[in-house]
Amino acid sequence: MSEAIKNRAETVIARTYNRLPLVFVRGEGCTLWDAEGKSYTDFLAGIAVCSLGHAHPDVTEAICRQAGQLVHVSNLFYTVPQIELAAWLVENSFADRVFFCNSGAEANEAAIKLARKYFAVKGETRRYRIISMKQSFHGRTLGALAATGQRKIQEGYEPLLPGFTYIPYNDARALAESMSPEVCAVMLEPIQGEGGIICPSPGYLAEVRRICDEHGALLIYDEVQTGMGRTGRLFAYEHSGVRPDIMTLAKALGNGLPVGAMLATEQAAAAFTHGSHATTFGGSPVVCAAALAVLKCIQRDNLLEKCRLTGQYFKDRLMSLKDKHAVVKDVRGLGLLLGMELAREGAPVVRACLEKGYIINCIQNNVLRFAPPLIVSTTAVDDLIACLDRVLAEAP
Ligand code: PLP
Repeated sequence: MSEAIKNRAETVIARTYNRLPLVFVRGEGCTLWDAEGKSYTDFLAGIAVCSLGHAHPDVTEAICRQAGQLVHVSNLFYTVPQIELAAWLVENSFADRVFFCNSGAEANEAAIKLARKYFAVKGETRRYRIISMKQSFHGRTLGALAATGQRKIQEGYEPLLPGFTYIPYNDARALAESMSPEVCAVMLEPIQGEGGIICPSPGYLAEVRRICDEHGALLIYDEVQTGMGRTGRLFAYEHSGVRPDIMTLAKALGNGLPVGAMLATEQAAAAFTHGSHATTFGGSPVVCAAALAVLKCIQRDNLLEKCRLTGQYFKDRLMSLKDKHAVVKDVRGLGLLLGMELAREGAPVVRACLEKGYIINCIQNNVLRFAPPLIVSTTAVDDLIACLDRVLAEAP
């Protein structure tokens, strides 16, 4: 059955993904089932998306209820779920205003546009440069791609949007040296996700904030991957306490429904006025109702604390594998966004885990990424560790 579906896909779907040979048909909690009925424990959650687990009853109920009531009206009108979601995000973050869109890339497009507009409305039209980080990932649309500091995924799309400079992450001196009167914003992930789970060094974000303030530039955090509790705080910036002017969200916000958001302080957001930016579907009632259910669930079920505890347990267990297997070079990350760097390619390990019923993935060729639903149990963690232990021993 899977083979037939796969063959059909190969004739009609664009070739942008090198997919693993599995067809998933159902999910519940941390478990996925394929078309053959085999079950898998999901340690990826759709790449940090389904943080409450699959088919969460509260989210399903919110989607069904709202779908039966009102699916869409234009943003020319108000809808209650959108307002409630924005209010919740404002009450629980540094931000004063929210612009809704449909994905992480779109949220970053909005952030880039807002940063430029912020200075343009003050007459500073030459202040358009954005400094972003090497190894960063901000999405695939042309603006977000230009912000992404990875040559390999920019190739073939030149000329890129001009005005971007890439500097090494965790290097405040490089940032200070690249600042100039043309810089409107510095853009970074509080933990680099696709770049290999790279955490900020102590004091780094505070130093970035200080340099931005010194030059009057805006600070943009891309929390598309780290936001919504993934690192054990609602937003990863809370670990350092260093607030941005603009922040982007997507992925886990809708637990699988496509919703993105750009949050900003009143001062920054003031540059967006009627007609400055828009999207047809952004903030539509169904996705906003789903996102509200996600946020309420994170609070009610104390998922941030659970994420911190399970995340630390998971990290300690991964460290024990590092002590045992020379091929493990490093274990890093925060909460339930963890990475294990190997001294060799990670893809065979991913495939071996998949055969044994565990879904993980590999980034930057040799970093295994673990981003399970925040509800994952320590028993499931133990089972994955036992699986990894066997896999690493079989193919050291
Ligand atoms: N920003 C970060 C940090 C991401 O990890 C991603 C996706 O992986 C994006 C932006 C792009 O989000 P989307 O795929 O929803 O456009």
